[in-house]
Amino acid sequence: MIQNERPVIANSLWTATANRVPDYPVLEGTQTADVAVIGGGFTGLSAALHLAEAGANVTLLEAQQPGWGASGRNGGQINVGLYDPPSVIRRKFGDEHGNRMIDMSGNAGDLVFDLIEKHRIECNAIRPGWIRAAHTPKTLRELHALAEEWQALGANVEKIDRDKITRLTGTDVYLGGLVDHRGGNLQPLNFALGLAEAADRLGATLHGQSPVSAIDRVAAGYTLHAGRGTVTAPQVLICTNAYSGDLHKPLAKSVLPVRSVQVATKPLSDNIRASILPDLHALSDARRLLLYFRLDADGRFLMGGRGTYNDHSTRRQLDRLRRVSRTFFPQLADSEWEYAWGGLVGLTRDHYAHLHEISPGLKAGLGFNGRGVAIATAMGRVLSRWALGAHNDDLAFPVTSIKPLPLSFARQTMVEAEILRLRFLDKMGL
Ligand SMILES: Cc1cc2nc3c(=O)[nH]c(=O)nc-3n(C[C@H](O)[C@H](O)[C@H](O)COP(=O)(O)OP(=O)(O)OC[C@H]3O[C@@H](n4cnc5c(N)ncnc54)[C@H](O)[C@@H]3O)c2cc1C
Repeated sequence: MIQNERPVIANSLWTATANRVPDYPVLEGTQTADVAVIGGGFTGLSAALHLAEAGANVTLLEAQQPGWGASGRNGGQINVGLYDPPSVIRRKFGDEHGNRMIDMSGNAGDLVFDLIEKHRIECNAIRPGWIRAAHTPKTLRELHALAEEWQALGANVEKIDRDKITRLTGTDVYLGGLVDHRGGNLQPLNFALGLAEAADRLGATLHGQSPVSAIDRVAAGYTLHAGRGTVTAPQVLICTNAYSGDLHKPLAKSVLPVRSVQVATKPLSDNIRASILPDLHALSDARRLLLYFRLDADGRFLMGGRGTYNDHSTRRQLDRLRRVSRTFFPQLADSEWEYAWGGLVGLTRDHYAHLHEISPGLKAGLGFNGRGVAIATAMGRVLSRWALGAHNDDLAFPVTSIKPLPLSFARQTMVEAEILRLRFLDKMGL
């Protein structure tokens, strides 16, 4: 179960198959650190790990326990690259910065697999590739153009036609797409817990059940009030993404938290398992309200998609995901559905993750737009370098001022209305 989550989506496969139940202690007393990290998802854990590795004295404060947020609940698909194709990134950010962003995002899968190997993280990580599937001729052209751009940069990305995608997926609903061989799958909560363990081993101090309630500016930097104590540090990294809450309101308003939900079957029989994604690819499609699916290490089928906020419509969305699964794979007709869970993705206005320096030494990195297993891990490393003195111009994410999204008081209504609009466009194939 995911604590503090609405019961309709609290039954998480990843919690049920976690290597351990994390139990990092509450912060007590008056502590100091070189760097304090707020938030124990991939971003904060990767930042803490890289800082500890560099010899910094780092303390991480997590409101619940590491992996509690989106990092422990996602689809576990290792997706590389950013939302825009490389040519658009270069046009928007210039050649030098754009190329740095392209390299970082293209190599983010390598970072994940290197960390897993180096720190011996047990999280069922495999690298069969990530399929991006087209459901219309227009999205097929776009995905093929994207594959050509990456190929021109030497990346192992393959265009696939209808026959090949049918063979790789076991369903004939897609027209083709691409296989990005840099991607793959893992058990995301176990990856997060492994990052926490590695950071701890390297000397980072981790605290659970320690929500930071206030940040005071002091002569030595910032004093964070959390749990039953305080931490004072000259550098603070806020890594709270879609769960940013009230700690820094403008920061929280710069991302739109949107629910994503998933369902999973019980382990499938060997013959059904072999008929769906036989090479164990991760897949997400090109719909505006994308569908994503994969098998887990025990042969369960997982299907995910964007959800809504209230229980009634979320229940309908979970039913819809099960129905779509059976349409794509009629062999699932009699399968039992064991898990249903979800979490929040943080959308930004321009679909890019951003770095912000709120005041000297108080930094944040967030806005992964639903693609954070690899990119948030890379963000954590970038934040660690920033805290250690790297110049803004040398970072692989744009450093921008915080721009709160408009009308944040009416967010849920706006999101619900937008979801209906996008669903209509997807249905019409537009
Ligand atoms: C259902 C779902 C499916 C997804 N599928 C994929 C996928 O397949 N592939 C992919 O690449 N990405 C996917 N994503 C996105 C990915 O999970 C996120 O981008 C990524 O986990 C963000 O990591 P993070 O560390 O920035 O944030 P989080 O993991 O959300 O961590 C933020 C943490 O901050 C803590 N926090 C908040 N406020 C405070 C405070 N005041 N004090 C202390 N701690 C605080 C929270 O408790 C939380 O643990 C998915 C997301 C969801 C929700």
